[in-house]
Amino acid sequence: MKNLAILGCTGSIGTQTLDIVRRYPQKFRVIAITANTNLTKLKEIAEEFKPRFIGICDENKAGAFSTSYGARVEYGPQSAEEAASLAQVDTVVCAIVGTAGLKGVFAAVKFHKTVALANKESLVCAGGLLTDYAKRNGVKILPVDSEHSAVWQCLECGRREDLDEIILTASGGPFRDFTDEKQFDSVSVEQAVAHPNWKMGRKISVDSATMMNKGLEIIEARWLFDCEKIDYIIHPQSIIHSMVKFKDGAIIAQMSNPTMELPIQLALTYPDRYETATPDFVFDKDLTFKKPDEKLFYLPALAKDSLKRGKNASCVLNSANEAAVALFLEGKITFGDIQRLVSQVYSRTDFYALDAIEDVYATFNETTRKTYADYAELLRR
Ligand code: NDP
Repeated sequence: MKNLAILGCTGSIGTQTLDIVRRYPQKFRVIAITANTNLTKLKEIAEEFKPRFIGICDENKAGAFSTSYGARVEYGPQSAEEAASLAQVDTVVCAIVGTAGLKGVFAAVKFHKTVALANKESLVCAGGLLTDYAKRNGVKILPVDSEHSAVWQCLECGRREDLDEIILTASGGPFRDFTDEKQFDSVSVEQAVAHPNWKMGRKISVDSATMMNKGLEIIEARWLFDCEKIDYIIHPQSIIHSMVKFKDGAIIAQMSNPTMELPIQLALTYPDRYETATPDFVFDKDLTFKKPDEKLFYLPALAKDSLKRGKNASCVLNSANEAAVALFLEGKITFGDIQRLVSQVYSRTDFYALDAIEDVYATFNETTRKTYADYAELLRR
């Protein structure tokens, strides 16, 4: 029996994790859950799974929640860290969106829990610090992201010293057939969050539409697999979830229907594999590949650049992106402004070394403040 803490239980990854628990109640027990604002869904989840600990990260909700069975309820951002630290918990599913998820991930590592990591922003902002800390604490970070789960599975086919390159696949998002940047400016929020192959939370859906998601994933892969040669290719069908190339030229790919069920479940059951509810794969699809247009969608190139620059460059890029996506979702900037704004902030920042986790939060706070305060002016330049 694995005892889980699910941070971000009300979201897309959180609820799909609960589906797996529902299917294998003899294998998993939910000890702790956290949410931010969605107390209606949280209540349903709590009453069904009866976790002993419930964290509500949004302080404004203080005192607003109770259960019929008397769970311990804590409020505030630190409640995710408390959930991750509980003695009974052995695996922490980190499914909070954004840099807000970082503290829960670090707490899980601190308290020697296995980390099932969906929150890619933590590796993007603090990859070096986090992976060093996990190594020192003997903690495994298991990928939930489908591309990284694919890479992880493919790597089992060869020796690490024979790895030449990681090749991530990208669906290309809803605007993959666009040819001109002007087309971005008439994109509505509804269009941007409607991903053709995946049903995900709003922030990652927008990131997929701008292709920033692939940039974040390149950085995530660099830290998860300690590999610096990483590229990506557009594969609109999302059947091949990623590939690894060994030095003899052999390319190993992992494929399945596009479902998050498989990678989430594998992170929970590894090295065992259990049946999933997804229907069997049917071999009736054409699989196609095309080179990305990095002139039109230029955020992945900035992500690669940030890895070359090191220091806090990836953290600045990620923080500017979080702020820009929020501004877009709030209706303050256009879809096309997202990449313009991120690039403006990134190119106007002096990078400094990340020596401690406090430097990550400082970078995040400074960049967020700058992006919000100056977005109108930066976009006029
Ligand atoms: P959702 O937006 O669907 O869910 C986010 C979860 O985080 C919710 O439970 C939400 O609570 C909680 N949350 C939001 N803001 C805060 C905050 N400030 N403090 C604490 N909790 C907060 O996101 P997804 O499930 O789509 O994504 C989660 C993470 O997984 C992201 O990092 C994403 O990039 C990654 N990921 C997602 C995939 C997917 O298929 N969805 C695939 C691969 C990776 P509430 O709802 O109560 O407000």
